[in-house]
Amino acid sequence: MRIGVLNLQGDSELHRNRILKFKNRMHVMLVKDPAMLDEIDGIILPGGESPTISKLLDTHGMREKLHTFIASGKPVLGTCAGFILLSRFKEQDTRVNPLGILNVTVKRNGFGRQKESFEERVNVTWGKRNAKITGVFIRAPRIIDMEKDVSVIAKLSKEPVGVIQKNVIGISFHPELSEDTDIIYKIFLSLF
Ligand code: GLN
Repeated sequence: MRIGVLNLQGDSELHRNRILKFKNRMHVMLVKDPAMLDEIDGIILPGGESPTISKLLDTHGMREKLHTFIASGKPVLGTCAGFILLSRFKEQDTRVNPLGILNVTVKRNGFGRQKESFEERVNVTWGKRNAKITGVFIRAPRIIDMEKDVSVIAKLSKEPVGVIQKNVIGISFHPELSEDTDIIYKIFLSLF
């Protein structure tokens, strides 16, 4: 099993280290160009700046191939800006062109700007498993709508902050920034 972490901008290394913690013989590649998508079986889209990542997807010629990769059913975990890139917006945003693969509408910075960043307990439910983890929210996207084929896997109080739709997981917070978030990576690894 070969896992890629999109490495155009953002927290790629931390995600790689977390995956290696589970299975240190797993092949985890930092993905920067379209050809590398042929070498991997699933991908993490990290947090960062969605306008920057969106632009770099185009300049690196990766947009179409990444879209095809995800649409073919390969496992994907998008966190924060990565989640934004997988989703849709209510109003068009000229700075970000999302892939629109997840049937979820998000609002960028929906929990406030940088100074409103926060850490809060998040409840994760996956099958029979439940876990309380630390969600680090940094200018996080807020889910404002979702379709019926999307299931909630993480909640902040009653509000959904993590979802899954077939092979695609979207998380509003940064699981790579707290230690107690293994369950998020386990859910992703269970999709392979
Ligand atoms: N607000 C950022 C964006 O819209 C996402 C922030 C993050 O990934 N921590 O891209």
